Amino acid sequence: TEQKLLKAEALNVVGELAAGVAHEIRNPLTSLKGFVQLIQNQTDDFNQYLSIILSEVDRIEHIIKEFLVLSKSNSQNFKMACITDIIKDTVDLLNTQAIMKNIEIKTELEDQMPLVFCDPMQLKQVFINFVKNAIEASSIGDFVKVSMSLCDEKKNIQIQIKDYGCGMDEVVLKKIGKPFFTTKEEGTGLGMMVSTNIIKHHNGKLDVKSKKGKGTTFIITIPV
Ligand code: ADP
Ligand code: MG
Repeated sequence: TEQKLLKAEALNVVGELAAGVAHEIRNPLTSLKGFVQLIQNQTDDFNQYLSIILSEVDRIEHIIKEFLVLSKSNSQNFKMACITDIIKDTVDLLNTQAIMKNIEIKTELEDQMPLVFCDPMQLKQVFINFVKNAIEASSIGDFVKVSMSLCDEKKNIQIQIKDYGCGMDEVVLKKIGKPFFTTKEEGTGLGMMVSTNIIKHHNGKLDVKSKKGKGTTFIITIPV
C-alpha cells in the first residue's frame, strides 16, 4: 500500500506537470501555426515545406491534447451517470471511422442498469480510447463488440470491448500503458496510459486477454 500511495502521488505530480507544460506549449504553437499560414497566403514558395511544418505542429497539438486529458483525471467531475448512455455516445462518435473500414460496432447493453458515481467525460474518453484501438487493430469487414453487464452480485459493472484484430504478443502486452509506447506509425502511445489512470481513479480494474493474430478483449470493471 505504501508503494501504491507513492505511485498515486507520482501520477498526481506527472498530471500537474503535464497540465502546466501543455498549456505553456499550446500558446507558442498557436502563433507558430498562424505565422506559417500567413506565409502560405503570401507566397507559393516553399509550400511543400510549410505544409510539413503545419502537419507536424498538428501532431504536437494532438499529443498535447491527450496529455491534458491525463492531467484532468486529477480534477474530476464526479456525478451519478448512466454508463449505457456514455457507451451509446461513444459508439455514435466512432461509427463514421468504423464504417470507413467496413467495421460494425455491435453493442450488447442491458436496459436496467443502475446509475454509477463517475466522471462521465473521463469514462467516455476511456471507452473512446479502447474502441478506437479495437477499430485500428481490426481488418476490413471485422466487427467490434462492446458489451456491458452487472456482475459480482450486482456490485460491479463490467464493460467488455472485443475485437478480432491483430492481437498482441507477450512483449507488447507487457508494454501497453507505458507512456509513449505505440506500435503504430501515427500513434501517440498515450491512450492506454490515460485510460488506465482514469479507471484507477474510479477504483476500477482492467483486464486484458489477447492472442496474436486472433484478437483482443479488454475488460473494465467499475464498482456501482
Ligand atoms: P496508440 O493507439 O496511440 O498506439 P495506445 O496507448 O492507445 O496508443 O495503445 C498502445 C499500443 O497498445 C498500441 O500501439 C497497440 O500496439 C496496443 N494495443 C492497444 N489496444 C489494442 C488492440 N485492441 N489490439 C491490438 N493492439 C492493441
Ligand atoms: Mg490508441
